[in-house]
Formats: sequence, structure tokens, C-alpha cells
Amino acid sequence: MSRLKAVLGEGGWSQDRDVIAPKLVEWRGRWQGETPLLVTPRSTAEVAAVVGICAAEGVAITPQGGNTGLVAGQIPRGEILLSTQKLTAIRDVDPIDDAMVLEAGVTLYEAHQQAAKVGRRFTVGVASEGSCTIGGLISTNAGGTAVLRYGMMREQVLGIEAVLPNGEIWNGLKRLRKDNTGYDLKQLLIGAEGTLGIVTAASLKLQALLASRAVAIVGLASPANAIQLLARAKDETGGAVEAFELMGRLGFELTVRNVPGLRDPLPEAHPWYVLIEIASGEPGAAEAALERLLAGALERGLIADAAVAQTETQMKAFWHIREGHSAGQKPEGAVWKHDVSVPVSKIPDFIGQANAAIEKSFPGTRIVAFGHVGDGNVHYDVLQPVGGDGDAHGAQREAGAKIVHDITAGFGGSISAEHGLGAMKTAEALTYKDPIEVAALRAIRGALDPQRIMNPRVLF
Ligand SMILES: Cc1cc2nc3c(=O)[nH]c(=O)nc-3n(C[C@H](O)[C@H](O)[C@H](O)COP(=O)(O)OP(=O)(O)OC[C@H]3O[C@@H](n4cnc5c(N)ncnc54)[C@H](O)[C@@H]3O)c2cc1C
Repeated sequence: MSRLKAVLGEGGWSQDRDVIAPKLVEWRGRWQGETPLLVTPRSTAEVAAVVGICAAEGVAITPQGGNTGLVAGQIPRGEILLSTQKLTAIRDVDPIDDAMVLEAGVTLYEAHQQAAKVGRRFTVGVASEGSCTIGGLISTNAGGTAVLRYGMMREQVLGIEAVLPNGEIWNGLKRLRKDNTGYDLKQLLIGAEGTLGIVTAASLKLQALLASRAVAIVGLASPANAIQLLARAKDETGGAVEAFELMGRLGFELTVRNVPGLRDPLPEAHPWYVLIEIASGEPGAAEAALERLLAGALERGLIADAAVAQTETQMKAFWHIREGHSAGQKPEGAVWKHDVSVPVSKIPDFIGQANAAIEKSFPGTRIVAFGHVGDGNVHYDVLQPVGGDGDAHGAQREAGAKIVHDITAGFGGSISAEHGLGAMKTAEALTYKDPIEVAALRAIRGALDPQRIMNPRVLF
């Protein structure tokens, strides 16, 4: 500890309980951590100094960005806590290379602002944008609402600067679209959840601004209809579907009821809803494409009703319904959350089988299925029965997860579509991963971090 304090100097570390406390608890209050020391390095060189000392002394480190992770990977359990909160420099934003180089502690909101300043967009969008950081988004390979068109965080990263577990600085801040020179180290660091080093900066792709956007909320009968609508939307708009989010009635109703300022845009209730966004580089094209798509779908009986946002404020309100789904469930008590993915074509069968199995094993529980269904990603939440005992529901979480995850695996799916494994799901993931793959991944980790000092409780 004394070497770390000395190398960082005044203001670079803290053992003050009041300063550390908010970083030891996850935003929903589900995990409480502990740490002997918080370090807040101000530069890549200081990160390297910290990691070098920890490597020499065999001291474990948990990296933390915005502390918005959903699987407890950022909460230390006795390790040193390394926060990237002071790594906030904007190193470059270049509309010719269509790239920006940001330090790891820059928030996603700030990344969007920086891109906009040069007439570009950074396309990753998650509801935690005000707090989550570039380093966290890279380390969890975050998804969000625009994956359908642009891909996950992995596809937005052109280069990375990182401090490896031995304390060496790797400067991989390239901004090339083409670089076929063997293994790609940055891709290993993306999604590594802090286990292969500390990301200190990244070079990220920028996209052109769009001239027109149109958003609708559609009421329909079933997930099968939603999948058909998605296929038509992709065909008819020439790939201009920016987002396609499915919401079941219960989640929709709870959100509209429990989140202040929201209202149902459709006059009647529907079993399922889709939020669809079309975006185009051509002025007026998105609105026209959406109107055409919805008129055709209504005529064929694929959808029952639709409301198209007429103003920017309405677009935001429609998105707020989708993004308010977690907040909408909060007053309803305990909830088991599952973040699964299956092939898009299997979503209706997955939801049907999972609903039947959960209803049979846990009668009275309430299912809220929603998510980035254009990517095959379903957030499958199971709420406690109305007036039930939250603790008793919480105690059955593992049994419920086994049912949902077994069905997911049966469809060739993933038990963590976009949130990572963290400390929460690592053990469970081992029961679904191919042992040959796990052995290869362990060999890579062992080679880079033989002492396992980087986020030791996370991943394999
Ligand atoms: C309201 C809400 C909505 C969300 N929506 C989505 C969504 O739609 N899609 C989605 O994918 N996620 C979503 N998330 C989850 C979360 O925002 C993402 O996982 C995000 O990428 C985490 O960023 P962070 O900076 O908060 O990282 P943290 O939570 O601090 O850390 C996450 C992991 O990354 C590691 N880490 C952090 N920074 C670094 C670094 N610089 N170097 C190495 N390792 C590091 C940590 O050790 C930890 O394992 C949501 C969360 C909330 C609260």
C-alpha cells in the first residue's frame, strides 16, 4: 500500500470510507464490496505504475469505470479498486479518419457530444450513458439499442491503449479499418471485463449524421408477428432499421403506470408492442419508409395499430417507455433478470417455452419479456407474485435461472447476450461453455496474467 500511495501522491488514492462507499455498491444495491484502497490514477503512466507495483507484490486489482455494470464485475471483494474517473482526456476527434481517441473514463454521453461537435455520430446507445465509460463499454463489449445496424462495442473499436497485467503499456491506438497482421490483441481486451489489463484509451469509429429519423410504437398480437415485421422492415427499407425493440404487455403497462410522465400512445391495449426506428441519410426518407411499412403491415393484419411520433419530444417519450422498463418494474418487488440471446427466428419459440416452464414451476410469478429483439436479445425478467414475499422470490432465483438458461442453451443461445459474466454469472457459464474453449481461454489468461491479479473473481 505504501508504495502505491507514494507513486500516486496526494489526491491519487483514498481510504476515506465516505469517498469509497458509493463505489462499493452496485446501483441496484444488490452487491456490497470491500477494498483496502481506492486508487485514482491521472494518466496512463500512473496506471502502469500502479499495475507494476501490484504485479511485483502479487496484489489483486478490480478496475472500475462508471459502476453501471449489471453482473458485479466492477465491485471489489478485497482487491485494490482502480477507478478510471480521472482518465477523461479527449485526445483527438477527427472527421477525416472518422475516428475519435478518448481516454477510458470519458462517459458515453460525452463521447456522443464530442462526435456531434464534428458533425458525426458515435452509435453505441445504452440507458446508462450519463455514467458508463468508454473503458467499461469496451471491457463489457456493451450492446444497447443500435446493435442491429452497427454492431456491438467490439465493432466500434479501431484501437486500444492498455496497461497489461505486468504493468507494461501497450499502445495499440491505431485508427485503421484494415490491419491484417495476425492475432488481434485489442479484440481479446474487448469483453475481457478487466481480466487482461486496464484499458486506458481507445480509438473509436465515427459514423455520418442521419438526415431523417422516424419512430413508431406498434401494437401486435405475438412475437411471431414482430419477427415477421422485422423481416419486412429490413427488406423494405434497404437496411435502414436503426432499432427494433419488443415489449410484452405487462412490462409496457408497468412502465407507463410507474414511471412519471409517461402515457400509452395507443388507444387500446395489445399483447405485444414493438418500438421501431428507421433512419436515413436522405431528408424525409425515414418518415416515408416507416409510413409505407406500417400501412402494408396493417393491411396484411401483421400489426393491430401504430402511433408514429410527430415531434422530437414524442420520439423521446416513445423511447422512454422502452428504456423505462427496469424502472417500471422496481415498485413491483423482487425480480429475477435474465439477459439471453437466441437466433432471431427462435425468439417466439423461446418466449413460448420459457413462459410455459416458468408458469408451471413458479405459479403466480409475472413475466416481463422485452429487449433488443432485432439482435435476438431478450431481457427475460420474472417478477414476484402480486403481494408475494420478495425474499422468498429472491431465494428461488437460481432455480428460475436454470430453467430459463437451459431453454436458451437448447436453442443454441447465450446466457449473457450483452451484460457480461462478471462475478455473478461466471460459475454458471462454465456449465454451458465448451470445455475446450474454456481451456484455451484459461491458457491465454495464464500467459498474460500468471498471478491472476486482474479481476481474479471474474471469468475463467
Ligand atoms: C440503466 C442501465 C441500462 C443499461 N443498458 C445496457 C444496455 O442496453 N446494453 C448493455 O450492454 N449494457 C447495459 N447496461 C450495463 C452497463 O451500463 C454496461 O455494462 C457498461 O458497459 C458498463 O460501463 P461502466 O463504465 O459503468 O463499467 P463498470 O460497471 O465500472 O465496469 C464493468 C466491467 O468492466 C471492467 N472495467 C471498467 N473499466 C475498465 C477499464 N478501463 N479497463 C478494464 N476493465 C474495465 C470492470 O472491472 C467490470 O468488470 C445498463 C446499465 C444500466 C444501469
